[in-house]
Amino acid sequence: MDCIFCKIVSGDIPSARLHETDNFIVIKDVSPQAPLHLLVIPKKHYDNILDCNESGMMDEMMEAAKAVTKTLGVQQSGFRLIVNTNKDGGQTVFHLHMHILGGKKLSEKMGL
Ligand code: AMP
Ligand code: ZN
Repeated sequence: MDCIFCKIVSGDIPSARLHETDNFIVIKDVSPQAPLHLLVIPKKHYDNILDCNESGMMDEMMEAAKAVTKTLGVQQSGFRLIVNTNKDGGQTVFHLHMHILGGKKLSEKMGL
């Protein structure tokens, strides 16, 4: 399958991993929309959350976000987690991922 995030996971496209677990990697978003903009990406391909029914995967995705925000020291200032899903949700890459946004006071409108 021609999937950009599968290529990042496999190493075909090089990227710096800020954090890694058995099932996830965390990388910087190539087009950051905040001073801190990371992506938590499962190593296994799922199109989006609707395609992922494996027990524990969502927990592990959240735990990866908690771990990397702790390492980066942004837990007290705060951050936002976003999982865009399908067209109206703004999903452009159809390999499940969660955005971590922070590093500034984010809009309270959340892109509505
Ligand atoms: P979404 O719109 O939720 O599907 O988000 C996809 C995100 O992937 C966007 O924020 C892109 O900037 C990001 N992205 C696309 N290609 C790459 C890449 N090669 N490395 C890192 N982030 C990427
Ligand atoms: Zn993929």
